[in-house]
Amino acid sequence: MDVNKIRSDFPTLNVKVNGKPLVYFDNGATSQKPSLVIDEVANYYQNYNSNIHRGVHSLSQIATQAYEDARSKISKYINSPKSEQVIFTKGTTDGINLVTNGFERGFLKKGDEVLISAMEHHSNIVPWQLACEYSGASLKIIPIHDNGELDLVAFETLLTSKVKIVALTQVSNTLGTINPIKQIIQKAHQKNIPVLIDGAQTVQHMKVDVQDLDADFYVFSGHKMFGPTGTGVLYGKEEWLNKLPPYQGGGDMISSVSFEKTTYNELPHKFEAGTPNIAGGIGLGFAVDYLNKMDFDWIHNHEEKLLEKTTEGILKIPGIKIIGTAKEKGSVVSFVHNTAHHYDIGTLLDQMGVAIRTGHHCTEPLMNRMNVTGTARASFAFYNTEDEVDYFLACLEKSINMLS
Ligand code: PMP
Repeated sequence: MDVNKIRSDFPTLNVKVNGKPLVYFDNGATSQKPSLVIDEVANYYQNYNSNIHRGVHSLSQIATQAYEDARSKISKYINSPKSEQVIFTKGTTDGINLVTNGFERGFLKKGDEVLISAMEHHSNIVPWQLACEYSGASLKIIPIHDNGELDLVAFETLLTSKVKIVALTQVSNTLGTINPIKQIIQKAHQKNIPVLIDGAQTVQHMKVDVQDLDADFYVFSGHKMFGPTGTGVLYGKEEWLNKLPPYQGGGDMISSVSFEKTTYNELPHKFEAGTPNIAGGIGLGFAVDYLNKMDFDWIHNHEEKLLEKTTEGILKIPGIKIIGTAKEKGSVVSFVHNTAHHYDIGTLLDQMGVAIRTGHHCTEPLMNRMNVTGTARASFAFYNTEDEVDYFLACLEKSINMLS
């Protein structure tokens, strides 16, 4: 695969920022979009804009078909047994809230426990806190080691019969840690405990097979996998999606409505109330088409090279410490400097055209665990290059010299 050819598919990679060519290392926050996706979103609005699942007229049928095709593509991409098990959401946060809401109303009570980890994004913490607050259940936290790996011994001790669900990220957006989720799911299933996996930082980097993982719920965001913003997916096992109560009420999610009794639509519509992000969903299907043309072994090796080169280069700069040094890591490098503040580093890098993320990355409890107030984070996608890493390292060294 030719990275320059790949880059030409992503128009935003050609923009200049502060007069300098953009070096986009903020892929953990959101990815850039290929022309294929941008063009199809425009094509929907220009040529077949219409509401779905309700019109007999031609445009509505074309739009419905395109939206349902997108669902099928996503279903195949994650190897879901049926496309009905793919629920369109606004993103990972929305998917998790759908599940926490259902658990709060149907499956949690006083004395029960929910098990999450110390490296979760706020979107896999706060919804569970709310569910626990309203149901009387307690939230328990799997601790992590200093290098950012999960403490698997503590996990097994915490996995008691009180636990009603385990909710865990596959790849940490802050540390890059790749968790052994298959093993974790197996352990939980031995005790009949369901598992929700947050795949927000996974699906754009590696192949995911929800059946092989045996995940009960798997959530991710479209905008981090080269699709439009405001899109995402909740995959669920059929038995769970049938058991969970509806999330929101409204049009499309009903079978029939009367003031005496309303019955709910079948999957996936039961969880898709109201007019969805039609253009976004269709665009996400095109992002999956794009990903299907990629060689995932190449992606893995390429991103690993970027990760290694960045890690080695950063460690040569005096005063820098990497936060997150797990053996199995995705292409994320979080770091702090002993005098220069991460916010100032990010601001100076921006002046040189380099976009990184600074702050707590929506993982405040993790920041406390690692004894930092925030970090600077470079996160890669397959369209990044080793030349960009060289430029970033030179700019980083310059920024730190200016700040020290
Ligand atoms: N989980 C993880 C691991 C993430 O990285 C993110 C996004 N930073 C989210 C959840 C939330 O995703 P979204 O904002 O798209 O809902």
